Formats: sequence, structure tokens, C-alpha cells
Amino acid sequence: MSPPNSGPPPLKRMIVPALFVGALFLVVFLRQPNGPEYSDQWVLTGQTMGTAFTVKIVVPSESGVSQDEVETVIRAAVDAVDSAMSTYQDDSELSRFNRHGTGPFDVSESMIEVVSEAQRVAELSAGAFDITVGPLVDAWGFGPDPVADPPAAETIAALLASGGFDKIDVDPERGTLVKADEAIRCDLSAIAKGYAVDRVARELVRLELTDFMVEIGGEVRASGRKTVSEAWRIGIERPEAGPGGLWSAVTLVDTAMATSGDYRNYYERDGVRISHTIDPRTGHPITHKLASVSVIHPSCMTADALATALSVLGPEDGRAMVEREGLAALFLIRAAGGGFEEWASDGWPSENTVRATGVEQGESE
Ligand code: ADP
Ligand code: MG
Repeated sequence: MSPPNSGPPPLKRMIVPALFVGALFLVVFLRQPNGPEYSDQWVLTGQTMGTAFTVKIVVPSESGVSQDEVETVIRAAVDAVDSAMSTYQDDSELSRFNRHGTGPFDVSESMIEVVSEAQRVAELSAGAFDITVGPLVDAWGFGPDPVADPPAAETIAALLASGGFDKIDVDPERGTLVKADEAIRCDLSAIAKGYAVDRVARELVRLELTDFMVEIGGEVRASGRKTVSEAWRIGIERPEAGPGGLWSAVTLVDTAMATSGDYRNYYERDGVRISHTIDPRTGHPITHKLASVSVIHPSCMTADALATALSVLGPEDGRAMVEREGLAALFLIRAAGGGFEEWASDGWPSENTVRATGVEQGESE
């Protein structure tokens, strides 16, 4: 008989630790990525186009680029878009085109790309999206200069008469823009942020970075993965002023999402909400119950423009356009008794519309 408490024989004593070590190996082995190993995540933030940007990059351990280098490339990309498309910079390409008369005006390739896409979305939305809304945006106090009062009915009528996206002609061969009326003033604010997101992403891919998230003022693109086991999860805000928290979150893999809403950029006059999104058909800010529209699309530029177009169209006409074009869109509509009702199109990733935790954007509940 063996003495009490002497424990199992030596071989048996090894079994538990051996199993433990084996399990550890298994866990480590299973967690190995198929591609390059990830060593680090960089979070780069800054200001551009009157808003904030965040870029998160999963850095491969074999990466040949430094954080400084990446930061410089990102800064150059957003600055290039801003100095081409800002209405706040007097010497931007857009401001110079706005002051130009009716003859052909030479512009950069990026301006051709963005204005062409703006015109395509204008056609798709029957003029709900319209970059010639510039003078109306200014008149309602959402341009570079503040205004004392909302515009008078005659002012609105005159601005409507001189505007219209069909008065802008894009000539990709010659690289020119032409306006049919000298009074035309363009505003690219509803598409330039999305374009800048795509542009930053393109630069990161050029640096052979494959796993990143780029967000500028709520327009976002996610590429690759956040970690070996997780994709990027992007939050959709509850459409309320202040820290409204999150409504839901979506998983984005190699695609983009833009959100348009009337809940951030607005002021109130006599209890009426004056939104920064203008209906180019009436010359007035939108007033319907559609509080926010999110669109998922492979191009962030397109998602950005579509989200604004659908915001203008409102819950019914917007829904008709989403269905006609087969878009992936989520509408949050103000409900009669307070709160919001959600409508998601067939193309919207339904498994993703769950309450969000651990997401990349917005504040958690
Ligand atoms: P949101 O994120 O709410 O869509 P954006 O910044 O993308 O906001 O677009 C709103 C801006 O676009 C406005 O501030 C204005 O400059 C411009 N804009 C307003 N109405 C229209 C419209 N109908 N078509 C195109 N641009 C518009
Ligand atoms: Mg937009």
C-alpha cells in the first residue's frame, strides 16, 4: 500500500500540466492568422473639412512604414481634398470655379471624379441631390458666413430659378467644368468627405496596409479586419442631438457606410428645426420625419451622396428610390409617440442590426 497523500505516481502527475501546455499550444496555434502577423494598432486623429477624422490601422509586424510616414500621407490626402473642394477656402478649386464665368474651367482629376458622381446621384434622385444648392445653403446660414435671418420667399424663388444641377456640364476628356449660368455656385460638402475617406484608403493600400478603418465626420470605410478574429464593427448613432448613444452597429468588411441626418447640424427658429440639408426642389430645409439615413456602398463617395439624397427625399420617396436602385440603406424615422422606428432595405445586412457594444464610432450606451 502506498502511504496516504503521496499523490499519483510521477507519470500520472505529468498528465494535467501536459494537457494544460497542449491546450495552450492549441489556442496559440488556432489564433495564428493566415496572413501576416499583427503587431500593433495605430490610431491617428485630426481635423479636416470642419470636422474630425480617425484612422485606425492594424500594423503588420513586417511593415516597412513608420507611423510618421503614414500620418504624413493621410494629412496630405485630406488636405488635397480640402484645398480642392472647400467652400471655406477662397483659393480652393471649387471657390475659383464658383467665381468663374460661363467658359470652360480646368479642374483636377479628383474634381472631375467627384462632380461626375454628384451629377449621377442628382439624376438618380431626380434632383434631390444637387450641388448647385450652394447659394441656398449660404442663404439659410450653413455656408462660411453667418446670416441674421432666414431668406425671404423672393430670395428663395430667385435662387431656385438660377440653380439646377443640369446647368453644370462635366467634360472628362478635356478635364473641364462648364456652368450654363454665371450665378451657379457649387457646394460639394455632401460628397467630399466620403471621397476623402476613399482617397485616404487608397493611399493606405498603396503603402501595402490592408487592415484599417477610416472615418471622416461620420463617413467610414473598413478594410480587412480589426483583429485576427474580429471584423470592424461600426456604430450607428441614435439620431438625437448631444450624446444620444448608439442605435445599432454593423460589420463592415471592405466596404463603406455614410450617414446623413438632421440631428447634428441644425438650428431652431420659433420652435422649428432648420436642417443643413436643403430640398433643392423647394429651396427650404427638409422637414419630414426621417431623422437619419445610413447607406452601405463599396464607394464611400457614393454612399455619402446617396445618404444626403435619401435624406432629402424623405421616408416614402427615399424608400422608393432605395428599392428601385437595390441599395443597402437603414432609415431611422421619428415615431409619433417619441423614439424612432427603423426601416432596413433588403440589401441591408440584417444580422447586423443588433444592439452595439465594442464598436468603433460614436459613444456606447
Ligand atoms: P450629412 O452627414 O447630414 O449628409 P453632409 O455634410 O454629408 O451632411 O451634407 C450636408 C451638406 O451638404 C450641407 O451642409 C450643405 O453644404 C450640402 N447640401 C445641403 N443640401 C444638399 C442637397 N440637397 N444636395 C447636395 N448637397 C446639399
Ligand atoms: Mg452626405
